[in-house]
Amino acid sequence: MQIPDELVIFGRSYKILEVSPIHVSEGVLGLASYREGAIYLDPSLDPALSLNTVWHEAVHIAQQDMLGTTDEDQARWLALFVHNFLIHNPAMLECYSSLLSRAPGTALAD
Ligand SMILES: [Zn+2]
Repeated sequence: MQIPDELVIFGRSYKILEVSPIHVSEGVLGLASYREGAIYLDPSLDPALSLNTVWHEAVHIAQQDMLGTTDEDQARWLALFVHNFLIHNPAMLECYSSLLSRAPGTALAD
């Protein structure tokens, strides 16, 4: 499994970078920097925890974009919800693959 080098959230690109060793030693799994346009991840995480952490940090970016602030409990809950929803409903991923391959550029809901 390879997390992409970049993610697009609300039309803006965010680089995926590694958290510093100091943060890793403090137990930080990930960080979101709205201002820098970056999400930092601990590269040593197992695949499931890495994916859940990407969702968590992506929610923080969305919160910052929409609300101008972040909410840790909400980010934790939403990340777990999306992660588990996709794990338990893998056919939904196939629906998205099909949608994207059918008509490029028409898949956006906004
Ligand atoms: Zn957080």
